[in-house]
Amino acid sequence: MQTQLADFIADTAEGREANAILRSCSHCGFCTATCPTYQLLGNEDDSPRGRIYLIKSVLEGNPASAATQLHLDRCLTCRACETTCPSGVNYHRLLDIGRHEVDQQVPRSWSQQGLRWLVTTIMPTRSLFGPLLRLGQWFRPVLPASLKEKIPVRSGSPGPLPAQRHNRTMLLLEGCVQPAMAPNINRATVRVLDAIGISLQPTPGAGCCGALRQHLSAQETARDDMRRNIDVWWPELEAGAEAVVINTSGCAPQIKDYGTVLASDSEYAQRAAQVSAVSFDLAEILLREEEALVSKLSAGKSSLSGRKVAFHSPCTLQHAQGITTVVERLLSAAGCELLPVADSHLCCGSAGTYSIFQPELSQQLRADKVAALSANGPEIIATANIGCLTHMAPVADAPVKHWIELLDEALTQA
Ligand code: SF4
Ligand code: SF4
Repeated sequence: MQTQLADFIADTAEGREANAILRSCSHCGFCTATCPTYQLLGNEDDSPRGRIYLIKSVLEGNPASAATQLHLDRCLTCRACETTCPSGVNYHRLLDIGRHEVDQQVPRSWSQQGLRWLVTTIMPTRSLFGPLLRLGQWFRPVLPASLKEKIPVRSGSPGPLPAQRHNRTMLLLEGCVQPAMAPNINRATVRVLDAIGISLQPTPGAGCCGALRQHLSAQETARDDMRRNIDVWWPELEAGAEAVVINTSGCAPQIKDYGTVLASDSEYAQRAAQVSAVSFDLAEILLREEEALVSKLSAGKSSLSGRKVAFHSPCTLQHAQGITTVVERLLSAAGCELLPVADSHLCCGSAGTYSIFQPELSQQLRADKVAALSANGPEIIATANIGCLTHMAPVADAPVKHWIELLDEALTQA
């Protein structure tokens, strides 16, 4: 694709990155075949190729409009288009740059600004989100149905934490909303890694990975999130921790992108790239340790033996990280019977904060996804991301769990 970026951006780091991405697109349109918003709306401007043209136009100096903003807002950032694209177009980075530029030009309504401020202030801040969630859980019985379904009932005790007893250590990204919404997921992760000889170190000073703010065009505060995490993890990595382990597939791609996003930050660029290089999704870590894990799982009769499980692979696992079949393989090793799921490449509609800002599209995608997952009568629906889990759970007949909770259960009872 030929480009002629405007002076205001051509010589910036973002401009050079966007220019290279735009030039890699051959506008073949293959990506439209797997784009959920194009499938639902049938409008070229709601397809990846259409959005690329919209961003190109703005970066070439044509004014952005409210319609441009709407079509970019409707993108789930699911990255199914990147999996399909034969030219390797780095669509999500172009979208981040394009959204930021459009938001500079097109003011949002006061109500939209207020909602965005609330979301970008409260959700990434554990000390605010946890107490507010507790308050919501307290008043849950009297809340309207639309609000009630966003507040999960308070879960039971997350179980014990093993002592730090192994020479091999890794760092756990504890996350922002996950510890309050589903505290068992981090505990289960620590227990499973402990069982195979790895102690997971908590790093309470680290927090949100930055994805939430970045996808809502709060670029500078997102970079602050990244720098804070790097500052917390760096001394621990220098002291011998092997890796940063991420059990929320939505956060892993962001941390793997730190090196790219902070490439022009002279103080952080090198450390950001090194942190990215040692940050792994939990599935990648357990794949590397598969032999030890399978031997532990085979040591006794698994309580999951023969249980029918439908696995929803989040977009951030399969498209953003290219991790396919790993979780399914580990769950099979734990004795689960994995059920086939139609259209498994499609997004469930959670997509970070998408369910808040695009509720109609989000609910339509959720209904389709839960129907596909439920078609073969699963006893459990498993997934890899807290957002997908809490989005689907209110409308699914089967319980929805993180896959590590199933492995933890199998190991505890083996
Ligand atoms: S993003 Fe990829 S698949 Fe889509 S039009 Fe461009 S080159 Fe083709
Ligand atoms: S990220 Fe998902 S919703 Fe957005 S253009 Fe790509 S396929 Fe479509």
